[in-house]
Amino acid sequence: MLEITKSVEWDMGHRVPNHKHHCRNPHGHRYRLELSLAGDVITTRGTSEEGMVYDFGDVKKILTKSILELVDHAFMASEEDPVFGPLAKQHGDRLKILLVPFVPTAEHIVYWCFQRLKDAFPPHLKISRLRLYETPTSWADFIP
Ligand SMILES: [Zn+2]
Repeated sequence: MLEITKSVEWDMGHRVPNHKHHCRNPHGHRYRLELSLAGDVITTRGTSEEGMVYDFGDVKKILTKSILELVDHAFMASEEDPVFGPLAKQHGDRLKILLVPFVPTAEHIVYWCFQRLKDAFPPHLKISRLRLYETPTSWADFIP
């Protein structure tokens, strides 16, 4: 069993509506997601994936389709956000506001990412860890 990790980054706005300090204000982060996959090295001679757990290029494609296309240059807000909920309904065709059923903290977002990725890989691979950086010094891990 080996573990491989692929990371992707995106820019996204959010806010934590009930936060006691400045995080209640709309602001943005350069998010970084690290996806670790555990599995056996493919030994089938002559195949494209020989010697790999999974092709990094294929991991990138899945991350792009499942996560990046939704979140990059978006504003993530809770469906119950009293400001951005109505704004999304009114201007959703012009603004990329991604309404989610949770407060968009790093902890919730990393779990949301897991839900979007858990069935995206072949069964011989296991997501061993997802790490989401909200800043270079702050991150949340989800270990299934
Ligand atoms: Zn923030």
